Amino acid sequence: MRLRNVRGSREAIADSEFTINDFKEYKGKWREIFGNDNPIRIEIGMGKGKFITEMAMNNPDINYIGIEKYSSVLIRAVEKRRELEIDNLFFIRMDAVEIEDAFEKGEIDRIYLNFSDPWPKDRHAKRRLTSRQFFERYDKILKDDGIIEFKTDNKDLFDFSLEEVKETKFKVINYTYDLHGDTDAEIYRGNVTTEYEDKFVEKGNKICKLVATRA
Ligand code: SAM
Repeated sequence: MRLRNVRGSREAIADSEFTINDFKEYKGKWREIFGNDNPIRIEIGMGKGKFITEMAMNNPDINYIGIEKYSSVLIRAVEKRRELEIDNLFFIRMDAVEIEDAFEKGEIDRIYLNFSDPWPKDRHAKRRLTSRQFFERYDKILKDDGIIEFKTDNKDLFDFSLEEVKETKFKVINYTYDLHGDTDAEIYRGNVTTEYEDKFVEKGNKICKLVATRA
C-alpha cells in the first residue's frame, strides 16, 4: 500500500495517551491498562481505525486494541479517539511480527484481520497476516476458545487463507464469498464495516469472510 507521510505523526503518536509505546511491559498485564477483566479483542492492520473505533463504541464491556504498522494512518484513529468519551480503546504502533512480545498466552479473546495486505508474490507469502507463520503467532496469544475473523475482497488471498488454516492448529467454522449478499446470515450479524470494505462494496466487489477457532 502507498502511504503519504504525515509530518509529525510519529511524535504525535508517541505522545498520545491512547497509544501504548512500551507495549512489551504490559505483556500479561493489559488489565492494568483497562482497569478491568473484560475480554480483549485486537485488530491487526487497523489502518485509520473506523472498524475498531465503532466496535469499541458499540461494546463498552469489551476492551479493544488497534494495531497498526504505520504512524501516517494510525494518527487518523488517534485524532478521532480524542473526541470520544470511551475508556475501552487503545492503540499500538508495531509490526505484527512482534505480537508475541505484546501479549501473553490466553490474553486475547478475538483477533480481527480486515483487508490485510495481499503480498501477491509467492516468496512473500509468510508476510501475509493469514499465513501459517502468523497463525502460529496467534496461537501463542489467543485464549483456548478464541476466535479469528478475516475479511477481504481479494479472492486469491482468501483462497490462500482457507488452505493455510488447514496447516495450523485452527479450523474454519464459517465462511462466505459474499458477506453482503445475505445480511440475514449468521456470519453477517452485527457486521461493522471498515474503510476498505465501504470502498470495495461501493465498487461492487464481493467481500469474503472466514471465522476460525482452534481445531
Ligand atoms: N483494516 C483497515 C481497513 O479494512 O480499512 C486497513 C486495511 S489496509 C489495506 C492494511 C493495513 O494493515 C495498512 O494500514 C497496513 O499498514 C497494515 N499492516 C500491514 N501489515 C501489517 C503488520 N505486519 N503489522 C501491522 N500492521 C500492518
